[in-house]
Amino acid sequence: MPASANGRPRVITDPLEMRAVVNESRSAGRRVGLVPTMGALHQGHLSLVRAATDQCDATVVTIFVNPTQFGPGEDLASYPRDLDRDLDLLAPTGADLVFAPQAGVMYPPEHETYVEVGPTAEPLEGAHRPGHFRGVATIVLKLFQMVPADAAFFGRKDYQQTLVVERMVADLNLDIEIRVCPIVREPDGLAMSSRNVYLSPAERTSALAISQSLQLAEREVAAGNRGAADIERRVRRHLTSTGGVDVEYVALVAAGTVTPVSTIDQPTVLAIAARVGATRLIDNCELRPEA
Ligand code: AMP
Repeated sequence: MPASANGRPRVITDPLEMRAVVNESRSAGRRVGLVPTMGALHQGHLSLVRAATDQCDATVVTIFVNPTQFGPGEDLASYPRDLDRDLDLLAPTGADLVFAPQAGVMYPPEHETYVEVGPTAEPLEGAHRPGHFRGVATIVLKLFQMVPADAAFFGRKDYQQTLVVERMVADLNLDIEIRVCPIVREPDGLAMSSRNVYLSPAERTSALAISQSLQLAEREVAAGNRGAADIERRVRRHLTSTGGVDVEYVALVAAGTVTPVSTIDQPTVLAIAARVGATRLIDNCELRPEA
């Protein structure tokens, strides 16, 4: 699975060729890692790629803006796409292959089969983006079939997505390990996201309230506050204190689940979704009462 001469990974667009290359690599005894992305790569994505190249002998990065996970009125058409730039960013990471299929190949007109997701996909993102996780689970399963890797790498930034994918892997007996990697942030705390490019300078400043409110919650828990409702109130107050942030949800759930907690007496995930102008951002952190 050699990278091309200029250090950029080789690009494959045909699913059958992709699968053949991965199968050949695995038959030769190599451990193959998969990093699914929608492109517009940033250091968050590259951290997943580095985790894959560290833990595997060959790494495949998929770049596909998956239409079925976008709802009507969402940013499918405007989602940033720049394969050339992505390949430049991947060159120093040691990624071997990029799988960049066409939408018409992934979803030909006769395509009609989707993964039916369960209760893990219902609250939080699922409640605000109907059909989103059905689209995510379907594309992830399709990518697992086309890139039959040993391990797939996902970011904790999309907390609920990692749970939906882990559930699907267990429920459908998929033969792949799921690795979840930490959130990568800008120096000022903003979680990296392909959608950050949409933010105006003023919105970029407003968006900082999201990571700041996560830090506020961490300080509260470190100081002994165990009340989920109180922490939620403080987080919401901070999010709305400077203006420009429209909160979609603030949720405190038991880590590894989407089940709300009332007392933070176990590891708890604080998950936030908010709109800053027209841009929808998500972020989360784990609150550990013993820390
Ligand atoms: P996306 O291209 O937004 O679909 O993201 C592809 C993968 O990168 C997902 O597993 C995301 O969770 C992960 N990811 C996105 N942003 C970050 C970040 N800031 N830190 C770590 N992983 C991230």
